Amino acid sequence: MQLDAKIPAGPLAQKWDRHRFELKLVNPANKRKFDIIVVGTGLAGGAASASLAELGYNVKTFCIQDSPRRAHSIAAQGGINAAKNYTNEGDSIWRLFYDTVKGGDFRAREANVYRLAQISNNIIDQCVAQGVPFARDYGGLLANRSFGGAQVSRTFYARGQTGQQLLLGAYSALMRQVGLGKVQMFPRREMLDLVVANGQARGIVVRNLITGQIETHAAHAVVLCTGGYGNVFFLSTNAMASNVSASFKAYKRGAYFANPCFTQIHPTCIPVHGTYQSKLTLMSESLRNDGRVWVPQKPGDNRSPQQIPEDERDYYLESKYPSFGNLVPRDVASRNAKEQCDMGKGVGETKLAVYLDFADAIKRDGREAIERKYGNLFQMYEKITGEDPYETPMMIYPAVHYTMGGLWVDYNLMSTIDGLFVLGEANFSDHGANRLGASALMQGLADGYFVIPYTIGGYIARTSFGSVTPDTAAFKDTAREASDRIEKLLSINGKRTVDDFHRQLGQIMWDYCGMARNNQGLEKARGMIQELRAEFWQNAVVPGDDKDFNQSLERAGRVADFMEFAELMVIDALARQESCGGHFNEAYQTEENEAKRDDENFCHVAAWSHTGPDKEPEFHKEPLIFENVELTQRSYK
Ligand SMILES: Cc1cc2nc3c(=O)[nH]c(=O)nc-3n(C[C@H](O)[C@H](O)[C@H](O)COP(=O)(O)OP(=O)(O)OC[C@H]3O[C@@H](n4cnc5c(N)ncnc54)[C@H](O)[C@@H]3O)c2cc1C
Repeated sequence: MQLDAKIPAGPLAQKWDRHRFELKLVNPANKRKFDIIVVGTGLAGGAASASLAELGYNVKTFCIQDSPRRAHSIAAQGGINAAKNYTNEGDSIWRLFYDTVKGGDFRAREANVYRLAQISNNIIDQCVAQGVPFARDYGGLLANRSFGGAQVSRTFYARGQTGQQLLLGAYSALMRQVGLGKVQMFPRREMLDLVVANGQARGIVVRNLITGQIETHAAHAVVLCTGGYGNVFFLSTNAMASNVSASFKAYKRGAYFANPCFTQIHPTCIPVHGTYQSKLTLMSESLRNDGRVWVPQKPGDNRSPQQIPEDERDYYLESKYPSFGNLVPRDVASRNAKEQCDMGKGVGETKLAVYLDFADAIKRDGREAIERKYGNLFQMYEKITGEDPYETPMMIYPAVHYTMGGLWVDYNLMSTIDGLFVLGEANFSDHGANRLGASALMQGLADGYFVIPYTIGGYIARTSFGSVTPDTAAFKDTAREASDRIEKLLSINGKRTVDDFHRQLGQIMWDYCGMARNNQGLEKARGMIQELRAEFWQNAVVPGDDKDFNQSLERAGRVADFMEFAELMVIDALARQESCGGHFNEAYQTEENEAKRDDENFCHVAAWSHTGPDKEPEFHKEPLIFENVELTQRSYK
């Protein structure tokens, strides 16, 4: 299949306006004749459901949690970018566009990123109108702070709870439509498969997580907003329920998966502290506005931080990257932390940590000012570690946080299956090989509030739909396959818990497909994953039955998908013989240990299609054409 990104013609700055004009429209009175399924109620799904219902479509919205408000988006801390230039520092749509393309190491589509930067400003207006309580400066104007990979302050925030406040905004808009009867809300439903009829996405199969009942739902289009797959690593900062299953099932039904190996390892997380830990905690990047990262100069220095004098500390980011200092992008900061620890300069019990020190900021601005900006984050850190970060530097280490890869989508956010749209973290679209901080919230809301309302109309207006109902064969067959799989999981009757398998899978991925990769390790990981997967289907134990609330069964289904998907990540990492952003193959690095791209051979999106069980996936290439930005070696010095 030829991958056509459907990028509109014309100058970059005019593409979106022109495209919106050229898209066919659905008459307002006709919109009520069309049903749309939205899976997911994070920022992308919440915004999409509310906006589509507001337009008049009949929307059915699904989520795993008991309330849409519990989507993983609620955890987002630091902020959301927009090119408002309120700080008068010289920001612009062009600068946000350029920073994002460069931050992603030139592996994202120019047209999508430019549109994202354009829309960023509308998002802030929309959220303010909804009552999102963004921080304000002393004059009452919206305040901004800095995030990595930018030399302007363009991040809007609500303390360390930006995701929560934005999600409450989207949730209010969604619930208004529920009240008006335009959105039918289905909480506690897990999508188990996608129904494709006559080549079009026409519905989904879900399991009611309370009663265990399998349900089918039909519509004219399906919008997946099911978030990222970082939990393939077991330990990550993602919510426990975050998974790849919906995307992976769509992949198996014909949607291409793009750049699955592009994972973001966030530099500022609370370090791993034990074997039985199941979750990692992010310390927002916003902390690097005021916190200074350092390690002792001497390897193996076991003194407490207070005992190490200033001239025996190495503020390695500040010295190595004087222009961006502690606010280098995440991939760069993470790799440098690993490098310091590999040199024996790590701190804390495990020696897999570096300091994030606020002493200077507190001295300069006062404790109260720091508390105002980051109070809840400091409190969270103290609760988890038992140490007071106002007195002792935080200890941080990189952890899996976000996935840039996802289902391939064209400029309209439509996948390779007609009528299947993918939004938010679940698609691959805008961040290339490394996402800049505060850009995921921006993308999720851009997709949901401002892109899909137009592009889905364009699809519906030009498509003829045959009649399908849940009695159509495609629905019955797909539902039967979902039930068979559940039965298979319940009948394994082995001895090892699903979590145990998941933990081992995560360790393999972290060791061989994590912050640094090499071909030998990746080959080895592939074999290990295949062996582990075989053992899973022989020896996993899934207690309980399928007629009830059964979280072990839920987890088993998700881990079974991770077992297959992990191999696709490794295949993708092996195919990309270069380093770029978060994909760091040790064989390809500059003399200064930075990622070394190969633009001649790898300036493309790698999209994979499923060819059948236990068969090699097929590779498809979408060349990336840069007409407005010069491809350079990324430098933050
Ligand atoms: C700790 C943390 C802090 C972050 N802070 C920031 C920040 O400050 N700024 C920023 O820009 N980004 C941040 N991010 C990233 C950002 O939060 C996410 O990328 C973004 O919220 C994802 O939104 P989403 O709508 O795509 O998906 P999610 O919010 O993950 O929502 C996924 C939805 O899909 C549903 N779902 C999933 N699978 C199924 C299924 N099979 N069936 C039914 N429903 C399903 C879930 O129930 C949920 O409703 C942070 C991430 C983390 C982990």
